[in-house]
Amino acid sequence: MTRLIYDLSLEELKAQLSAWGEPAYRAQQIWQGLYRSLWNDPQQFTSLSTSLRNRLAEEFTFSHLSPQQTLCSQDGETVKTLFTLPDQRAIETVLMHYDVRQSLCISTQAGCAMGCVFCATGQMGFQRNLSSGEIVEQVLHFARLLRAQNEDVTNVVVMGMGEPFHNYQATLDAIDRLNHPQGFNLGARRFTISTVGLVPMIRKFAAEQRQINLAISLHAANDTLRSFLLPINRKYPIAQLIQACKEYIAQTNRRITFEWALIQDVNDSPQHAQELANLIKGLLCHVNLIPLNPTRQYPANGSTRQRAADFSAILERVGIPCTIRIRRGIDIQAGCGQLASHQQA
Ligand code: SAH
Ligand code: SF4
Repeated sequence: MTRLIYDLSLEELKAQLSAWGEPAYRAQQIWQGLYRSLWNDPQQFTSLSTSLRNRLAEEFTFSHLSPQQTLCSQDGETVKTLFTLPDQRAIETVLMHYDVRQSLCISTQAGCAMGCVFCATGQMGFQRNLSSGEIVEQVLHFARLLRAQNEDVTNVVVMGMGEPFHNYQATLDAIDRLNHPQGFNLGARRFTISTVGLVPMIRKFAAEQRQINLAISLHAANDTLRSFLLPINRKYPIAQLIQACKEYIAQTNRRITFEWALIQDVNDSPQHAQELANLIKGLLCHVNLIPLNPTRQYPANGSTRQRAADFSAILERVGIPCTIRIRRGIDIQAGCGQLASHQQA
């Protein structure tokens, strides 16, 4: 298969160009064409010679993602695209408009190995890792659409399909590519990685001292419930996870976000809120409460507004900042993996 051009770092592109006997500045020109001008056809690179353009076209592909289906929520604020990859795997990317923000939710794997019971992607099982370029291309696709409306991608959340810390290097490489000052130049603080809690990778990430935001999918504050909802908890139980979070905060001085999908009568009682408050009190953190998006294989309900408000009040009483996220795009199955898993079924 021809290589995807977004799989290359600028250094790799330079090495390739020099192997072809081209001067180094050609790599910069191509890089800017890809990431500033957002070109995705070698013939758009008119400052290059025809022979170099043709060589790029022969040796690289400029697209692995082919849009299959795009859904727009009724309020027009959320757009979700289902892409197929060259091997026919399906992934999803979601664009959310929040006031002046254009936030993209991107995927890092086709399927996911972590098997969280309430998650449509987890219910699909693991298919494969995305390459760094396939992760990057999701952002470029939407950046092109937004540019046509004079808008830009302002935030990228790595909360689509897959567990980013189970595809660590490709995920970080993709962020580096999008963060590159001579290219796409989206600031590190505009990225958020959400992980189910792979403890060794949280430590590795902390050691890298990056400005990228970190979110942890917690969803339960006792091991019995968390191991049921998120089977990976059997390997990395809560005490280890919180210890790794403390180390991350100490090393980076950065606030962690804890994600909590509110599931009616499962993890949304005042007792659950108190248990969570006891667990994370005093940590530099923030809690995001998101009513569950029901999926076919785990047909529980999301909590009511009242339950969510009561839960959040208990956290706030002990000084834990907390946000209730409204469910975005529920009418277009914008929950993680919901469209791709339906397509396969
Ligand atoms: N694998 C990573 C990132 C992708 S999932 C992780 O688990 O953190 C992104 C977020 O969506 C996670 O917090 C996950 O627990 C949550 N999620 C998955 N399925 C959901 C559902 N049906 N309703 C609400 N949140 C869900
Ligand atoms: Fe994977 Fe995250 Fe879904 Fe769990 S919630 S199955 S880790 S994508």
